[in-house]
Amino acid sequence: MSTHPTQLDDVVIVGGGLAGLFCALKLAPRPVTVISAAPLGEGASSAWAQGGIAAAVGEGDTPESHAADTIAVGAGLVDEAVALSLAREAPARIDDLLRYGVPFDRDLEGRLAVAREAAHSARRIVHVRGDMAGKAIIGALIEAVRSTPSIRVIEGYVAEALLTESNAVTGLQLRKFDDVTARPVNIAASAVVLATGGIGHLYAVTTNPKEASGLGLAIAARSGAVIGDPEFVQFHPTAIMVGRDPAPLATEALRGEGATLINAKGERFMLAKHPLAELAPRDIVARGVFAEIAAGRGAFLDATKALGETFAEHFPTVYASCIAGGIDPARQPIPIAPAVHYHMGGVAVDARGRTSIDGLWAGGEVSCTGAHGANRLASNSLLEAIVYAARIAEDIDGRQFAKRSAPADDVPRNCGMPPSAEANLRALMSSHVGVVRDGDDLADAIRTLAMMEQSVGNIALRNMATTALIVATAAWSRRESRGGHCRSDYPDENPTLARRTMMTLREARAVAATMTADPALRVNAPA
Ligand SMILES: Cc1cc2nc3c(=O)[nH]c(=O)nc-3n(C[C@H](O)[C@H](O)[C@H](O)COP(=O)(O)OP(=O)(O)OC[C@H]3O[C@@H](n4cnc5c(N)ncnc54)[C@H](O)[C@@H]3O)c2cc1C
Repeated sequence: MSTHPTQLDDVVIVGGGLAGLFCALKLAPRPVTVISAAPLGEGASSAWAQGGIAAAVGEGDTPESHAADTIAVGAGLVDEAVALSLAREAPARIDDLLRYGVPFDRDLEGRLAVAREAAHSARRIVHVRGDMAGKAIIGALIEAVRSTPSIRVIEGYVAEALLTESNAVTGLQLRKFDDVTARPVNIAASAVVLATGGIGHLYAVTTNPKEASGLGLAIAARSGAVIGDPEFVQFHPTAIMVGRDPAPLATEALRGEGATLINAKGERFMLAKHPLAELAPRDIVARGVFAEIAAGRGAFLDATKALGETFAEHFPTVYASCIAGGIDPARQPIPIAPAVHYHMGGVAVDARGRTSIDGLWAGGEVSCTGAHGANRLASNSLLEAIVYAARIAEDIDGRQFAKRSAPADDVPRNCGMPPSAEANLRALMSSHVGVVRDGDDLADAIRTLAMMEQSVGNIALRNMATTALIVATAAWSRRESRGGHCRSDYPDENPTLARRTMMTLREARAVAATMTADPALRVNAPA
């Protein structure tokens, strides 16, 4: 790409995961540019999904029942109309994926095969070759995108700032991924769709790719966008600890098949914590695993009896991850820890995926639609990505935008990433804004992050600190425990706090300013 201000298509999608690619395909034949930090197929959580997509397509299942399960898991904060409309549109979007060539598994009579997952009252997860859903879905979409002439794909560039004027999008500032010395490129755009995924890489232990470091949320927030429910972060209880970053996932289905959670002494610690033991809700199991590790007893997933020699056949992906890490899961317990897996919060959007900034839409994990509330029901995230991507395409399609001129190519200062700075931020988020939080730790984190998001010279790190600050501030402000948010100093759910968080970066900075006497901290700092 040239280093000069560039005019591409008037619609630009940032992100090449499920939300971004699906939106681009739905917009065809309207010309659209997709910008992706990583080459398509890499650096996207979508490609790693093991379970599948929730959709009430099984016999006897209904969208109403799917919505009821979604609402029950969301701990009082799910927008019920959003959950119902999501469930109702699911079958049509699955049909779209079939048309794009996704080979969903079928039963003997040729109907879509549906699996059961935790907290779903019916079998409703459509899947591909057991645990290969993400890979197969993204593979099919990449092929469809590559053969759609109206879609221009630019890989290896990261959007590091949103350009706006009077609360309306004018373009994006891009830079070569992982190259601080590269000159940024400003591109004009009338409509930007953020589809940048989650925030897992803000934490030391995560199942997300490194591209999921909250940059999309940060650039929206730095332009003034309203962020919804940022404190709600879902931890997967059973990430495989074999020294890999990101940590590979041991799917919940293993516990469904009878695998147990044990400590180093071989004790099943979940028996004492919940009547459902290993099959308790995800956040309770995550806290159980966290407590065992914090107490120095260690935590392991033991499938040696439940699966034994059949492990490789039933769970090929997990098996391969264990073997690569020197663990034979057929014979040995798998060392595990909770890992950041999914962000319920994100850029707040309405039913059409519109954000609070004109010309900015958000879809997929970077967005917050209200569908998940304080906790996500398994396999609802891929569904949300396709439903909202389709709605965004419909909302954009048919609009004529005034031509924007490419914004001036001023070159903002970008310094190198200070050694260990990213690792330190991630460690801080895990220790102070993690599975179990308390007010003092959160305040400590807020003080550090507030300084970082205004003073560090590396733009990527500054953006990471921006998103981290918003998560920490919302977590500090919510003085209760609810869904994925657990406060040791406020261990109970408080019914009077059953409302969603809506917050801007300015508000987060104002909270931070109350915790520090440092005059360098400016609530109105520039984007
Ligand atoms: C291991 C794992 C298993 C999962 N299993 C399931 C499951 O079975 N079912 C389910 O429903 N959900 C599952 N999830 C969650 C689900 O995969 C994600 O929520 C969903 O894929 C998000 O899709 P997305 O398109 O929003 O983001 P992603 O698929 O993460 O794509 C984000 C894209 O944005 C790009 N990007 C990021 N920042 C920038 C930037 N600043 N500039 C340019 N490009 C950028 C990335 O390179 C990537 O192309 C799983 C997640 C993980 C990690």
